[in-house]
Amino acid sequence: MSVNKIVCPSTCGITKGVNFTAYETGAKKDWPAHTVELPGLTIPGKHFLKDMLGLTGCEISINSMAPGADMPIYHNHIQNEEVYIFIQGKGQVQVDAQVIDVQEGTIVRIAPDGERTWRNNSNEPLLYIILQVKENSLVQYGLGDATVPQKATVWAN
Ligand code: ZN
Repeated sequence: MSVNKIVCPSTCGITKGVNFTAYETGAKKDWPAHTVELPGLTIPGKHFLKDMLGLTGCEISINSMAPGADMPIYHNHIQNEEVYIFIQGKGQVQVDAQVIDVQEGTIVRIAPDGERTWRNNSNEPLLYIILQVKENSLVQYGLGDATVPQKATVWAN
């Protein structure tokens, strides 16, 4: 199988096969170099992956929020739930005025209606991954969605 490699600036790169896309986002320490520009709002350290990976059922972003920084707006969603997976640092998530302390290992699911914001009130970067998926869209999941070909695994080297 032929594999095309497209290298984008810095350390990022994409490898595509017939049935996969692999995207190198760089080391976690380099995540702050990614920035999302929205009308009236610049979000440093955020990088959306849907277009990079060709995702069709969810949006994913990787995020590095600087010490002392916060998301300066509340937002909710129309049809998508969100899952916030915290992988490094400490901070707080606020949903409908309720505050949740989060840290490495905390995972928060927020329903579309939840009015949310979050902040890094610590002295180190807060790293997290956000998944956005359509609420109630999941029909089958885990191994319930898997088929298992009867063949031994082989690695070329
Ligand atoms: Zn959101």
